[in-house]
Amino acid sequence: MPKADLNVKGMVKNRHLSKSISDVGWSTFRQWVEYFGRKYGKLTIAVSPQNTSQNCSNCGQKVQKSLSTRTHICHHCGYVEDRDINAAKNILQKALSTLGLVTVG
Ligand SMILES: [Zn+2]
Repeated sequence: MPKADLNVKGMVKNRHLSKSISDVGWSTFRQWVEYFGRKYGKLTIAVSPQNTSQNCSNCGQKVQKSLSTRTHICHHCGYVEDRDINAAKNILQKALSTLGLVTVG
């Protein structure tokens, strides 16, 4: 398995995540995303999910939070964002960095 793949086995061991992940079937989901990316001529990039929820997308510092904490509040730079949007920004940044691109702001 390439390093960038989602750690499905590890995530399923987390009892809070296991049911939803098993229901969705991440491997199948990823195959769909890649299939539709090819079909519509869009680039798809798998990135390591490590720390995408924990790191601040504004300053890069780690901000530990439990799964129930839905708002990212950075004690380092003061950045406040919805947890999932903060993670999405980190994921986008990781994907762009594999292309040699860096977002500004
Ligand atoms: Zn920050």
